[in-house]
Amino acid sequence: MPKLTVNDLNLQGKRVFTRVDYNVPMEESGSTMVINDDTRIRATLPTLKVLIEKGARIVLAAHLGRPKGERVTSMSLRPVADKLTELLDQPVAFANDCVGEIAQVAINNLENGEILLLENIRYHSCEEANESDFAEQLAANVDVFVNDAFGAAHRAHASTVGIAEVINARGGQCAAGLLMERELQFLGEELDAPDKPFVVILGGAKVSDKIKVIDRLIEKADTILIGGAMAYTFKLALGKSVGNSLVEPDKVDIAQAALDKAADRDVEFLLPNDNLISQMNDGKWANPVVNSAEDIPDGREGVDIGPATAARYAEAITGAKTILWNGPMGIFEDARFAKGTMAVAVAVAAATGAGAVSIIGGGDSVKALNQNGLAGQVTFMSTGGGASLEFLEGNELPGVAALSEK
Ligand code: AMP
Repeated sequence: MPKLTVNDLNLQGKRVFTRVDYNVPMEESGSTMVINDDTRIRATLPTLKVLIEKGARIVLAAHLGRPKGERVTSMSLRPVADKLTELLDQPVAFANDCVGEIAQVAINNLENGEILLLENIRYHSCEEANESDFAEQLAANVDVFVNDAFGAAHRAHASTVGIAEVINARGGQCAAGLLMERELQFLGEELDAPDKPFVVILGGAKVSDKIKVIDRLIEKADTILIGGAMAYTFKLALGKSVGNSLVEPDKVDIAQAALDKAADRDVEFLLPNDNLISQMNDGKWANPVVNSAEDIPDGREGVDIGPATAARYAEAITGAKTILWNGPMGIFEDARFAKGTMAVAVAVAAATGAGAVSIIGGGDSVKALNQNGLAGQVTFMSTGGGASLEFLEGNELPGVAALSEK
């Protein structure tokens, strides 16, 4: 059942508690904290603009870092209020606490269309514990709940689930923000019935992190391309030698089960047939070379897919109508080992230009696209890490379940 969204609501004069994801990277500069990357703040602007146009009194709540119930000055959201003021070209007030008298007074001071950002909700340990008293306090001075924090929707916290229950129980509305709505559309509806051919590209460190996603998507995909260290656990399952590559020997059985399921369903399941290999000497990678054999020699580690694999994967991506990509093809943080990931990024962007819907499942793949200036050339980049993976596994996220139905 589709969820209510901000577009469905009449918000004139209503106090709207809006949960956003402002967990942005910051750096100390002199005596102040400076925001390094404001992508997550910018991602909420469409929702904020709708709330402003609708005459809502906007109360923003977010977490920053892991202060574990303490007031840690370096994790204050105050710099975000300044950044928002700049981006929206309108003053954004800041309250030094998210509950109690400080919050109440600041909320009461809001006029229609004005914005207040509350201090880091994780300064209170009851937030993560989802304590009902705390949820009641968060809900005390507001009328409506909007959740635009997809990246926090997989956690049942007071500001994602508890408050929604309180507001629902008193007959109030709980709606998705526009960013949340797009996440649900692309990671949910689009992938439930994808246009074919549907190509899934998965990489990263561990099979165990992504096996549930692989298992579910084998039921929908035409082709699955595997890269990153997790490819080597599949290689082990096929009886190949992987040298010193990062593997999970205890996950060989589940890797084999995925290979069997793909074969049963006629899903093309591709693994690298060449690799860039290297070895760690005194904490430094040494002698990177392409290894064209299926087996990796003893003492060497696979650090990226090789050029032949990159070309094969690019060709598979070229004909796709729907693409899902999550995870790098190698240790892409080191430029020498980033070619495979970049080849995939370029191929995904080109396929999108030719009409495919491309969905990037968050984290490192988003970083890789950003590094190459290709971020604007894909259809959708998820803002969630853990939340994206849990959603792609087919789980209903607690923060989404808590929202009202249309
Ligand atoms: P994940 O969070 O599971 O998507 O994994 C991302 C991480 O996997 C990145 O930090 C990569 O450096 C790492 N990674 C990718 N390929 C390899 C590899 N062949 N060996 C070791 N680490 C890898």
